[in-house]
Amino acid sequence: MDTTATAERVVLGEGRSSRHALFADTHHPCLGSECALPYSADRGTKSVNRQALDELKQQIPLLDYLQAQDWQPVRPLSGGRWMGLCPLHADRKPSFLVDPSKNLFYCYGCGRGGDVIRFAEIYHDVKFPQALALLRQWRGLAPLLQQATDFYRMQLHRHAEAVAYLLQRGVRSPELIEHMRIGYAPGGGCLRAWLMQSGYPLSALSQAGLVTSLGYDAYVHRIVFPLEGNLYGRSISAAAPPHRFLPSPKGGLYAWELARRYPEVILVEGLLDYAVLWQAGFHNVCCTMGTHLNSRQFQQLCDGPRTVYLSFDADANGSGQQASQQLAHRLGVHGILTRHIVLPAGHDPNSFFVQGGDAGQFQSLLEAAQP
Ligand SMILES: [Zn+2]
Repeated sequence: MDTTATAERVVLGEGRSSRHALFADTHHPCLGSECALPYSADRGTKSVNRQALDELKQQIPLLDYLQAQDWQPVRPLSGGRWMGLCPLHADRKPSFLVDPSKNLFYCYGCGRGGDVIRFAEIYHDVKFPQALALLRQWRGLAPLLQQATDFYRMQLHRHAEAVAYLLQRGVRSPELIEHMRIGYAPGGGCLRAWLMQSGYPLSALSQAGLVTSLGYDAYVHRIVFPLEGNLYGRSISAAAPPHRFLPSPKGGLYAWELARRYPEVILVEGLLDYAVLWQAGFHNVCCTMGTHLNSRQFQQLCDGPRTVYLSFDADANGSGQQASQQLAHRLGVHGILTRHIVLPAGHDPNSFFVQGGDAGQFQSLLEAAQP
């Protein structure tokens, strides 16, 4: 792989250690950070199977991986390169350069750069071996989840019960259904049949959690929302547990790449809360998918100065309020301002809109929100 051209354009690597030569064939010579080596864990000395690494990088184009994490190119440059907002730091104007032909990135804001492995290390805040494992898992899972998502989306309008459920939960606009890529899992083995016809072995389906150990479709009568590296299934029947995820991690905050552009973000607990707010015109919303934030979700909220409007469910037992208070405290320690949105008793954002609340009324609640 020849990186000379990029190296000339991104001039930041002068006077670096000669150890760079070791990586010159596969790595951006100007990897940006002060660290002289491209990866965190191996320090360039242990025997890494270079051929396997090169293969992995070829199989996972950087741009595909970035886009799967909701990164969007904003401005085209010469040579097929792109600029966009940096997913690694709080970026207000596009400073993140991606060169798809070289599979390299560089950020003029935070000064970091490298290949898809380096990106995964920084983005997921993991060491080199975990970054490799995540990428390998993603490589195997991504096409399968994409196929499953496509299948579920085709089913949505073929099943009246799914559309009726969405209407009942206030989801009406075709733009919203498109934006969230909402689908429906009818169950009954149809996903399994579809994917096996597409050439996936049953073992891959059960490993991904799409099919149970007995060979049935895992999601039955569920509205399906694709996440990064996972699928959330909301049961439309009161008889089944309401929430299900595939066994892989639930990922970062839902819609974070869109929400993070705003100085004020609204944080909600459920995807149906997200849906009605988005539909009402609030696009600075992101979703935790539960009251517990994983470390990545927490880090995302802390990646720059902002105010977070918390709108967790006001449960009768007070657990939502408690989670909200604790989160506000933790965010405050990191310098993030928080406000608590107080909904009418017993409501969450979804039920607020479903029962007639409108954008103007919610805006008033936002303005009335207290620290
Ligand atoms: Zn950056």
